[in-house]
Amino acid sequence: MLSASPHLPNFPEAEGQNPASTVLVSKALLPLPSIPAQSNLDGIWLTDDLLFQHQRCQRRAFLETYGDLEQRDPPSDYLAKLKQDSQAHQRNVLAEQFAHRPQYARRDWLRGAAETQILMARGVDRIAEGVLLVELENGLRLVSCPNLLIKQPGQSRFGDWVYEPADVRLGKRPKMDYQIAVAFHAYVLAAVQGAWAETGWLMLRQRGTYAVNLSETVPRMQEILRDCIQMLLQPEEPEVFIAHNRCDLCQWFSHCYGLAQQQRHLSLLPGVTPSRYVHLKALGLTTLESLAAANPKQLECLPGFGLPVARRLVRQAQAMLHNYAIADGLEPDQAALSEQELPTASVELYFDIEAAPEQNLIYLHGVLVVDRIGETETFHPLLAHSESDEQLVWEQFLDLVWRYPDAPIFHFCPYEVQTVKRLGEYYGTPSEWIEPLVERFVDLHERVTRVAILPVESYALKPIARWLGFNWRDSDANGAQSICWYAQWMATGDRRYLDAILRYNEDDCRATYRIKDWLVEFCQPHRNKPRLP
Ligand code: SF4
Repeated sequence: MLSASPHLPNFPEAEGQNPASTVLVSKALLPLPSIPAQSNLDGIWLTDDLLFQHQRCQRRAFLETYGDLEQRDPPSDYLAKLKQDSQAHQRNVLAEQFAHRPQYARRDWLRGAAETQILMARGVDRIAEGVLLVELENGLRLVSCPNLLIKQPGQSRFGDWVYEPADVRLGKRPKMDYQIAVAFHAYVLAAVQGAWAETGWLMLRQRGTYAVNLSETVPRMQEILRDCIQMLLQPEEPEVFIAHNRCDLCQWFSHCYGLAQQQRHLSLLPGVTPSRYVHLKALGLTTLESLAAANPKQLECLPGFGLPVARRLVRQAQAMLHNYAIADGLEPDQAALSEQELPTASVELYFDIEAAPEQNLIYLHGVLVVDRIGETETFHPLLAHSESDEQLVWEQFLDLVWRYPDAPIFHFCPYEVQTVKRLGEYYGTPSEWIEPLVERFVDLHERVTRVAILPVESYALKPIARWLGFNWRDSDANGAQSICWYAQWMATGDRRYLDAILRYNEDDCRATYRIKDWLVEFCQPHRNKPRLP
């Protein structure tokens, strides 16, 4: 009798008892969508990686399966670095496991699955980088590659042992998409060994080993798997939807973004989230023109809206359509921000930090000192040449900003002020140095978003400054790239990487300065500026 966990669905008998063969499952594995015999899924490899991508974006999984791979962007330096760091971490962890490795060429799943089953049949204690493969009747193949298979007591078709799957992740937390991947391994593994594993495992960098509750996660994974198969059965690619938090690192970004721009897709409008878009679509509001002409009252009752959101969305569409800035919710003669909220001083500081979150390191405090009386602008790059310099540059930063005790310190988003507070605590800086300093900080992102609606796709520093005509000297530079440059400087000692970081950081400070000057102008009452129609 094969074992099955009492909390997991019974697993159907599989055909093909030869341990070195692909497992062919003749019945529906579990409630998956019915797949026509002549479906386009014959010969498709549905891997754990594809399922992982599907969780983040259906369209991405579709493009990876049916798209023209030539249209993918080359991986950015940052993405390549993330992959390298992750692979290095996996190698280090697996090296300590003294595991057997099946021999197969990369992506030769059939060979990998056969070699893995030979090791499972021998009952070796641990198998690293194995391949688990199940072929459904209609030709769809489920492929899972757990980083590790761990032998445990139990009953499987191989003997009185079962295997449990484990993944090694660089992440700090047991994110749900990591757990879903482990559940998928467990699911395919159950078909291969004819028994459910009791538990799946995540080996996390900081938190150590985390037990994945398969009874809870497998049903959730099945929903996602069903959804993924359903999506793959559709002949049409899923609609594009640009969401920067998930698209920025995707290699299909240029392809999708080009399409979204061509369509003037509403996902390019700040505030249009995937869930709000569903409701807008249901009302037939899928173009800038229709949204700009909508009555906010018509939208306020929709889930996730309310009147302030509805009003802002409509105005955002108007700003975008007519390419002008709208003063948000102000009377024509009303000053948007007080002098205290947006001060102008004889000396002003513009501040931007560069950090390497993985190392918890602040490696650059960039400060642009603008002397409006003396008409000078001086950039101070306070750079840590190595990790051990962090405290030194922190002290240099304090010296610099306290040389101008009355100067407001302009920055963009809360990160700078949060970091100053954190460094103050970490290095035991007296509170009388930190508290009055923090009082001088002015977050221009908060000020801009409070009073203005701009024709931009996002209220990040770059889109706003670019709309104002500011250009970065390195057009591709960004925070992620800066992290890569710093890692390359550490690895090679090549000064050009540092120069690129300083150029980028100085431009960020100057962009902040440009936004501040524009905002002062915009906030003047009686100015002849575009307002609501
Ligand atoms: S760019 Fe965005 S929408 Fe396009 S495939 Fe990638 S994640 Fe999906």
